[in-house]
Amino acid sequence: MEAVTITLNGIEVSGRPGMTILELAQESGVKIPTLCHDPHLTSIGACRICIVEDERSGRLFASCVTPVEAGMLINTESPKVLERRKTIIELMLASHPDTCLVCDKGNRCGLRKIASDIGVGYVNLQKIPLAATIQEVNPFIERDLSKCILCAKCIRADHEIVVEGAIDYMNRGFTTKPATLGDSPLESSECTFCGTCVAICPTGALMEKNRVYSGTSADRISTTCGFCGCGCNINMEVKSNRIVRAKPGTESAVNHGALCVKGSYGYDLIHSQDRLMKPLIKGDDGFEEASWDDALTLIASELNRIKNDGGSSKLAVLCSSKATNEESYLLQRFTRSVLGTNNIDNGSRLYSMANIEGLGWTLGLPGTTSRINTIEQSEIIMVVGANITSSAPVVGYAVKRAVKYKGAKLILIDPQEIRLTSFADIWLRPRIGTDIALLNGMANVIINEGLIDEEYVLRKTDNFETLRDSLQKYTPEYVEEMTGILSDDVRQAARLFAKANVASIIYGDGITQQITGTDAVMCLANLTMLTGNVGPRGGIFALQRDCNGQGACDMGALPNLLPGYQALESTDSKEKFKKHWGADIPSEVGLTALEMIEHAKNSKISGMFITSEDPVSTFPEPDLVKEAFGALDFLVVSDMFLTETAKLANVVLPAVSFAEKEGTFTNFEGRVQQVSKVVEPMGDSLPDHEIVIRLASSMGNPMPYSSVQDIMKEIEESIPMYQGIGYLDSQAGDEFQSSLDKSPKKGRRLYKGQFPSGFGRFASVEYEPQPEEYSADYSLTLLAGSTARRPSIISEGIKLSKLSMFLSEAYVEIGESDAWKIGINEGDEVRVVSRVGELTAKARFTNALPEGMVYMPDCLESGPVNRLFSTTVDPRTKTPALQSCAVKLERI
Ligand code: SF4
Repeated sequence: MEAVTITLNGIEVSGRPGMTILELAQESGVKIPTLCHDPHLTSIGACRICIVEDERSGRLFASCVTPVEAGMLINTESPKVLERRKTIIELMLASHPDTCLVCDKGNRCGLRKIASDIGVGYVNLQKIPLAATIQEVNPFIERDLSKCILCAKCIRADHEIVVEGAIDYMNRGFTTKPATLGDSPLESSECTFCGTCVAICPTGALMEKNRVYSGTSADRISTTCGFCGCGCNINMEVKSNRIVRAKPGTESAVNHGALCVKGSYGYDLIHSQDRLMKPLIKGDDGFEEASWDDALTLIASELNRIKNDGGSSKLAVLCSSKATNEESYLLQRFTRSVLGTNNIDNGSRLYSMANIEGLGWTLGLPGTTSRINTIEQSEIIMVVGANITSSAPVVGYAVKRAVKYKGAKLILIDPQEIRLTSFADIWLRPRIGTDIALLNGMANVIINEGLIDEEYVLRKTDNFETLRDSLQKYTPEYVEEMTGILSDDVRQAARLFAKANVASIIYGDGITQQITGTDAVMCLANLTMLTGNVGPRGGIFALQRDCNGQGACDMGALPNLLPGYQALESTDSKEKFKKHWGADIPSEVGLTALEMIEHAKNSKISGMFITSEDPVSTFPEPDLVKEAFGALDFLVVSDMFLTETAKLANVVLPAVSFAEKEGTFTNFEGRVQQVSKVVEPMGDSLPDHEIVIRLASSMGNPMPYSSVQDIMKEIEESIPMYQGIGYLDSQAGDEFQSSLDKSPKKGRRLYKGQFPSGFGRFASVEYEPQPEEYSADYSLTLLAGSTARRPSIISEGIKLSKLSMFLSEAYVEIGESDAWKIGINEGDEVRVVSRVGELTAKARFTNALPEGMVYMPDCLESGPVNRLFSTTVDPRTKTPALQSCAVKLERI
């Protein structure tokens, strides 16, 4: 491509064809002021402040919408430009209130800054009357449209980045304003309060409610969001050790200038008054505050006592899937080398272990195979069992952008009507638990109609013939019988998927939290391999619920695998870690999270250490969990809050939030990103890595780390897929990927054309009807899932006052016809009863569910759905089936 050369302010500069003058100026270090331009948005030349002069013709152009042409002579600051720019600013100020002195955006306002830069002060123009009032009913955003300059950044961000379409221009002339449909309040519109419009608004028209007048700060610290596995980059503004604002990192390759409501407003959690400030030791009269020394001495002596009396296998550790990589690594090292057991597991056991098993067995890669940008390059995107606009919002944005602006077609497999449904070309609604039949049926069509990528299958995969034979019975007609999906729809979806040059599959809890989760993941891997879409063309995207579920597994916080998924049986691996840790590595496979509960209940384990997980609120059959913890000799919990689990502990240690510590998270793509200390820890709380180091010392096994970087160094040395990352390379953006590219033999995580074991393995998986029995008594299927405005974790959700304002009351959604059959009216209080538990909730009518299905969010303290689920598990991963179960509803 030939470079285009222009003269800019007397200096020759070259750019790429199609670039705008503004882009070339910015690349060349020439500053042109603008209010309506943003690199993530389509340029519309609305504010005209970026005008420049073509010295040949004397014409003025808005530089943000004018492409460079060879030979242009552009002046960005000619007298004519400066005069016009000044006039434009004066006109804007004539319709802007003189409230800069009391406007919270004062120091941050783009309009005021440009006015001051170019010397506009008092404006001698007749003021335009301003009638707008402040709207602030919703908990997040304060709108003062008298300060709106109609740059349309909020509208474009809404349409082009997050693709919600909640707002648009309303009215004409002086009364023009951005508004929701019918000018309804934001809270009753499609708005998800992702905060992207607030972050991008250059004036005080949109502000963070409750943060107004919290001060302006020059301290802006970049970190990684700790609220879900997407791993968005956030810039936190800090004042007096308080976070006053969270804004999306604009350079991030993950979130492209956007966050979701949790990232934008969830940081309230960090400063919650309910935080634990000091260690607590339980005595006869309940908890009493203690010093760290006393707490750790007690824990060390109790853990040593249990180990000496009953052996290491009497102890178990449950690590958080929200801990940093460094913390997870350290905790598994502590468990194996100090406690002497492999009884270590992490919170992602509940939602994503099928990725490790299913993708590990088929592809040899324990997670996502491609980068998020591949989604937007896909011709076909298939989303299976994942309400991504709620559970992984930035992935949802990418899918919606791909469909709306890049011509991608969406195949949605979900029984429930979700926000993404309106974007889908094909929407398949299988009966609950029949995904395997459907996916096998699609594979059958692809093979029988000759749609496989033959060369790929031949050269790169194994077991094809066995798969082909095993799929014979999965004709579209058989699939229709099993799933309820018309055979023609199965054919159409299979053909659409297979004929695409680039196809991606995204899946989530709807797949992995079933008792057939691992098998279903293998079926998805089969489809990607049959069509040659494993990556880098296309890919398979395994979503992660928590911010470091992937990292916790990578770090070896697993009972059956050492760090980096190195085999426990391998003498070489054990020798390697023995060398690092100076201790023998136990050989016996440890207990998974649910097995720990069972063993505690039966007194087979006596002591547990739990970090930032709340099994009582999240595990199935919480009464059983409580009973198990009650049977322990000694329970230690480190957490930010006194959770339901912490209340049962003998010692509770105050842990910090993600914003109070350093380290790294690995997001759902496998991107390792830096977590920065944004504020100092509250009270006496400590990061888990420091707690573990101190505890190991108290137990007589000091660990040789003086910093988080030391731990990462050891991780790099001992985990092949983390080699070459380098602590300082792991910023948000693509540095991690580039560091991999520089050393392709090291750090292999993504699929780059070759499977780690040489070949991908097709898995032949049989569909078996689910054992859950639906009877006349339990005739409804309960579906549990996430909601957009709350974290998917009860223990954190309760503390997030602003987020909880939307959904403080438990509800169950039900179709009207089902409701009438059992005599329930909208708003009735009902009892939701499963075979193992019950809870009460308000009935809400919906059209989003098929007949016979009801839905409850899984994040409300007032309606803890985990009570309804049994401890039935996926036999391969021991993951409980927390997606669906048989229930009945009774009107109270
Ligand atoms: Fe945080 Fe996830 Fe929301 Fe991004 S999508 S801001 S990582 S909660």
